[in-house]
Amino acid sequence: MSTTSRGTDLDDLIADVEARNPGEPEFHQAVRDVLAPLGPVLEAHPEYSRARILERLVEPERQVIFRVPWVDDEGDVHVQRAMRVGFNSALGPYKGGMRFHPAVTLGTIKFLGFEQVFKNALTGLAIGGGKGGADFDPKGRSDGEVMRFCQALMSELYRHIGPDQDVPAGDAGVAAREIGFLFGQYKKITGHYAAGVLTGKGTGWGGAQVRTEATGYGLVYFAREMLAARYEDLDGRTVVVSGAGNVSLFAIEKAQELGATVVGCSDSSGALHDPDGLDLDLLKTIKLEERGGLGEYVERRGGEASLDEGATPWGIPCDVALPCATQNELDEKDAERLVKNGTTLVAEGANMPCTDEAIAVFRAADGVAYAPGKASNAGGVAVSAFEMQQNASRAGWSFENTDERLQTTMREIHETCRRTAAEHGLQDDYVAGANIAGFLRVAEAMLAQGVV
Ligand code: NDP
Repeated sequence: MSTTSRGTDLDDLIADVEARNPGEPEFHQAVRDVLAPLGPVLEAHPEYSRARILERLVEPERQVIFRVPWVDDEGDVHVQRAMRVGFNSALGPYKGGMRFHPAVTLGTIKFLGFEQVFKNALTGLAIGGGKGGADFDPKGRSDGEVMRFCQALMSELYRHIGPDQDVPAGDAGVAAREIGFLFGQYKKITGHYAAGVLTGKGTGWGGAQVRTEATGYGLVYFAREMLAARYEDLDGRTVVVSGAGNVSLFAIEKAQELGATVVGCSDSSGALHDPDGLDLDLLKTIKLEERGGLGEYVERRGGEASLDEGATPWGIPCDVALPCATQNELDEKDAERLVKNGTTLVAEGANMPCTDEAIAVFRAADGVAYAPGKASNAGGVAVSAFEMQQNASRAGWSFENTDERLQTTMREIHETCRRTAAEHGLQDDYVAGANIAGFLRVAEAMLAQGVV
């Protein structure tokens, strides 16, 4: 990477990132998205270029990759690859989830870690950005197999984490069960009950109230603020959510509570359309307790519910679309269908679920508000930071108190995005507002801390 010229040319920097990180298209996409609105900011702050803030931001502070051998119920040995990327610690210990999914690569984890830096900065809390994961597929595995895998993973990961160093949490494929097994092994190896080493713990043993619900609830609180900015609300609106996992289920729950009718969701089997409104209790039973598929929902629900196998849910007409499944799940054609069907609000629950082309469609459409995940899904990591605060002070906050703080945090992030966008002459531009505000907070801290 060049260190001779004093300015930072964004196109050169992106080309450099692509050359230095081959085969990581999602990471390149995330870097492009964050850098795109920063030109005027860098012009106004030449000190950032002199200190090579951007060049340092796109290079993780550290990356650990390790082998995880484990034994299945039949006695067969499997070998997985796991990793943890500490992206930036200017604002606090590395903070971000662990993802278990067969498609996990270093490029996936780097894109997620990079996004996490700016998301965490937006919360205003004292957390740096990191992410981790493994190419382990928990689907169809027994609890014993998942436990042995988690224990094997933690047998290496424990060296690299700690309450003041790096604090993993859940992400896709990692929820309360996995966090429990990971924590148990950490405690066993180190001999310390260091509650603040992981977040997303059970509420009976150091976990924060509302952490399970936080990303989905926070997303809907953010969407509520977006609507309020246009003197609208969720009551009576039709909503479609993608996915049927942690984020999706609690987004559905909060949207229903606020008076919306949620008529669609999806999972890896296809898109579920239930024109009468989803039966959330049935959905939770199937997805959370039985770990089943949406086909079972259709069989048990009856009525007009139907499953479009292999499809995305973006053909179902709705006022509000909340993509909550995975990266790049909503493409240009999906975006065009949504706009044509009258959707006026898109807020991301997943990380980078909309392709660049889809985002361009939303931003070009008249009357469509679009929020990037680093702003609208920040509720999960915010409550994780609340969990760290409670662990450090050995306190426990009530559900109501934590939910109130989550609502305040989402309102503040929303205000920060809008105010920052307006200050840069970009009214109502949540993408520019989120990226610039997140960047400024990290850049100021990096500048103050010198060249490290
Ligand atoms: P889960 O694993 O709990 O749920 C993911 C859901 O999406 C599942 O229903 C899964 O289907 C479905 N899905 C995944 N990939 C596809 C695909 N290619 N096509 C169709 N459906 C798919 O994950 P989470 O809810 O925890 O996370 C979802 C997203 O939100 C991720 O991008 C994650 O990074 C992001 N996020 C999560 C946070 C959290 O607190 N958990 C915090 C912030 C962001 P199936 O049920 O069949 O597996």
